[in-house]
Amino acid sequence: MINIKYDIKTIDEKRSILKSFLFNKSENIKSEKFNKISEKDLHILFDLYDEIFLNYWFKQNFKGKIRFILSKQLTRAAGNTRTKKNIAQIRNEDIEFEVKISLNHLSNFDKIERSKYVGGIEAGSILESLMLVFEHELCHVIEFLVLKKSSCRKRPYKDLIFNLFGQTETTHKLVSSNEVNAHEYGLKPGDNVRFKYNGKFIDGFIQRINKKATVMSPDIHGNYMDKSGKKYKKFYVSLESLTKSN
Ligand SMILES: [Zn+2]
Repeated sequence: MINIKYDIKTIDEKRSILKSFLFNKSENIKSEKFNKISEKDLHILFDLYDEIFLNYWFKQNFKGKIRFILSKQLTRAAGNTRTKKNIAQIRNEDIEFEVKISLNHLSNFDKIERSKYVGGIEAGSILESLMLVFEHELCHVIEFLVLKKSSCRKRPYKDLIFNLFGQTETTHKLVSSNEVNAHEYGLKPGDNVRFKYNGKFIDGFIQRINKKATVMSPDIHGNYMDKSGKKYKKFYVSLESLTKSN
C-alpha cells in the first residue's frame, strides 16, 4: 500500500525518537505519564509520525484535512476514523477525515493494575497506549486514501499496520470506565448478588455492568427466559447497593 516495512527493532527506536521530539514540542506531554492533553498534541503527533515513520508520505500525498478530536463519548473503541463514503469521487484537496481518540481509555489507564495491550503490543504507559491507538487510526487514514475504503479486519490493513508499526491485532485491552467502576466495588459480570427492593431482599446475578449493574433475578413471573426455560426479572441496580453472595 505504501512501500515501507520496518523490523521490530527499528520500530522501537523510531518510537523512542518520536517520544523525545514530542516531549520537546508538546506543552502537555513531557513524560510517559501525563494528565493533560489537547487536540494540538494530536496534530504534533501526526506531524512526527509523518516525519519519523512515513518519510513525509502525508506531506507529499495528502492535501486535504484531518480533524483530531479527543472524545469522551467513545467507550468501547479507543479510537475512530471517519471520512465521507464517496471518498473515491472527492478531489484529494477536499478530502476530510475525523480522527477521534478516546479520553476515557487514557484517563483510566492507571486505575487498574494489569497488563494493557493495543494491537498485540503491550502499552507500558499512558503515552504508549496513546501512540498505539494513534498508529491504528493513522493506518485507517492511509488505507482510506490509497484504497478509498478501510477495514481493520481485512488483509491490506493488517499488512499495513504490521509493516509500519509491528501491530499484530486490531483490538485493544485497555481499561474501560465500566471496568474501573466494577473494580472499585469488587464486582464483575457473572457474580451472584443481593440487593434490597421495596423492602425485600432480591437475589440474582450480574449480567452486565455499565453505570449501573443489570441484575437478573430468577422469578416465575419474569419476562426474560434463558435457554433452559428458566424465567428472570431484570433490574438496574446502582453498584453501591449490591452485595456479593454465593
Ligand atoms: Zn480499526
